[in-house]
Amino acid sequence: AKAAGRNNLRFFDPAMQASIIARTAMEQALHEALDAKQFRIFYQPQVDAEGSIDGAEALLRWEHPKQGMVPPANFIPLAEETGLILPLGHCVLEHTCEQLVKWSRQPKLAELTVAVNVSIRQFRQEDFADQVLAVLAKTGANPARLKLELTESILALDLPDIKSKMGRLKTQGVTFSLDDFGTGYSSLAYLKQLPLDQLKIDRSFVRDILDDANDAAIAKMIIALAASMGLQVIAEGVETAPQKDKLFALGCFNYQGYLFGKPLPIEQFEALLTGR
Ligand code: C2E
Ligand code: CA
Ligand code: CA
Ligand code: CA
Repeated sequence: AKAAGRNNLRFFDPAMQASIIARTAMEQALHEALDAKQFRIFYQPQVDAEGSIDGAEALLRWEHPKQGMVPPANFIPLAEETGLILPLGHCVLEHTCEQLVKWSRQPKLAELTVAVNVSIRQFRQEDFADQVLAVLAKTGANPARLKLELTESILALDLPDIKSKMGRLKTQGVTFSLDDFGTGYSSLAYLKQLPLDQLKIDRSFVRDILDDANDAAIAKMIIALAASMGLQVIAEGVETAPQKDKLFALGCFNYQGYLFGKPLPIEQFEALLTGR
């Protein structure tokens, strides 16, 4: 801010102006995409130690009419900044719950637990728990089939507030996973006060788990921590069998990653499960 104040010319920087225009256009495009229902949800399998699919993570995609599938890294940050993540996140939750209801009537799909990413901005809303409960009630989805993925960033919020929001949802059967665990700031003292069900080992520790002793040590520590707190642990970004074997040897029995399946459109995900 100091540097900007010293040199007002910065505001006339053509490159910067172009980027402001691009940003505004992007923001506009995101609003239109929401109206035009261009967002899709892909489902990535989560498997247990035997390799059976017992869940999925719902991952957002933007099906742009000209650019094709736009990955979330290209629009979630702006959606978070502008607040558009609120309607967008609500839409993901609604669609996922509707999907859960459809699956509840099909033998091989009824037992799946689906994880939905929740941005800190969504969670911070005073009526967050009420919103989720309202979606569950409206759709008739079984709360026990819904898992919410939070990141360590929520630990910056007021602890009693986090606990009361999570608690209200937990009494209805909703479960919670702490995503990207190990990459953020986590006070372990805080962590143990949260009513979590699962820790998710970040992909960055899985990638080089076979060659990097530090990554292996961190994964081992997270697995031990989860065990001591009575939490399930899942590893994300598992791409090879040796990575999976290493995680298994360390005591992690739940996995998500390209080895087991990429994020898939609904029809393909269902086909994978029903074998049709
Ligand atoms: P995340 O929550 O950490 O999701 C996992 C990401 O890892 C996904 O990227 C997934 O496609 C990717 N991935 C899974 N397995 C592998 C693997 O074996 N190898 C590699 N290289 N990558 C793998 P994606 O779908 O691009 O999503 C990126 C991020 O966008 C997510 O990271 C999440 O933070 C955010 N995001 C996605 N959907 C939503 C949403 O509905 N709401 C919010 N708030 N954020 C979302
Ligand atoms: Ca996630
Ligand atoms: Ca993650
Ligand atoms: Ca991650």
